[in-house]
Amino acid sequence: SGSALPESAPALVVTAHGGGEVLEVRDQALPAPTSDQVLVRVAAAGVNFIDTYQREGIYPVPTPFVCGNEGAGEVVAVGDDVSSFVVGDRVAWGQGAGSARTYAAVDTKNLVHVPPGVDLETAAAAMLQGLTAHYLSTSTYAVQQGTTALVHAAAGGVGQLLTQMTKKRGGRVIATAGSAEKLQTARERGADELINYSEVDDLAAAVRELTDGKGVDVVYDGVGKDTFEASLASLRPRGLLVLYGGASGQVPPFDLQRLNKLGSLFVTRPSLGAYVATPDELRARTTDLFEWIESGEVQVSIGGRYPLSDARTAYADLEGRRTQGKLILIP
Ligand code: NDP
Repeated sequence: SGSALPESAPALVVTAHGGGEVLEVRDQALPAPTSDQVLVRVAAAGVNFIDTYQREGIYPVPTPFVCGNEGAGEVVAVGDDVSSFVVGDRVAWGQGAGSARTYAAVDTKNLVHVPPGVDLETAAAAMLQGLTAHYLSTSTYAVQQGTTALVHAAAGGVGQLLTQMTKKRGGRVIATAGSAEKLQTARERGADELINYSEVDDLAAAVRELTDGKGVDVVYDGVGKDTFEASLASLRPRGLLVLYGGASGQVPPFDLQRLNKLGSLFVTRPSLGAYVATPDELRARTTDLFEWIESGEVQVSIGGRYPLSDARTAYADLEGRRTQGKLILIP
């Protein structure tokens, strides 16, 4: 039942590994959902760094492939074995390649229902970065009353959400960002202390000054190459460095012996997949996330909406450090 589907529709294709120039919008046959997939008419697709790692070939995906790992929309068809989703359901996902297109086939294991109080653009904007901020602040390091956290790139997509969730759990946030305008955004999201890391000579010294010389309990570092050393030097003894990304480049190989010398430090390199590994865990984190969004406790800031035809600009803006909050594509 329902309206007839077209035979083909636009998709953002990664034609070969490379820079933004390899992205092309092409008409593609509608994907046929397998028995465990649903077909979704995509209302919005999220723009994420993982898309750029896949495009560049850092995370190996054979080309050509459809870009994107996140989206939200309405179910228009279901596979033979699907029982928990029906045509007309509003759904979202933050894992599984091939989202930046008008009609996407999505594995039900990655799919959640979007509650009526959350619009589809917000859902598309919240899934990947919101679930990431959730697991980072509740599980990788369980922030509690009295925790001091250093949050890098705090005006970014993950950064704004992580700042809010850390505050919500009673933590103190020392935020870094690359401009006064971005620091102002971090402040609006609840950051207690602000450091412009493009301007300070010694970032770790600035952090120590704000912690009576002690250092922070945890550093959330998604910037990577450019901040890693300062992150290590900002920790208290037995503190945890959570290296969750490499927006400035990947951190080079590292001598573990240094952790001993620097004060019995911990380093972890987590990824979302391991923290939403079961349907129960995905559902529990998503339930929290949507509740916090609906109650207004967590604001999802959409920093840019781009038509699919402008996807190259969206990725260039993200990679060029010109954005705050979340970028979405409207197919
Ligand atoms: P952001 O919105 O945070 O954008 C990246 C920000 O990083 C920039 O705006 C910029 O902020 C800062 N930055 C510093 N140096 C550079 C540089 N050389 N080039 C580009 N940006 C730079 O992106 P996301 O929130 O989408 O992602 C942040 C990080 O989190 C990424 O590394 C991503 O891979 C990672 N991630 C990891 C996940 C996981 O589970 N492990 C899941 C989701 C994201 P400023 O100008 O203030 O310095």
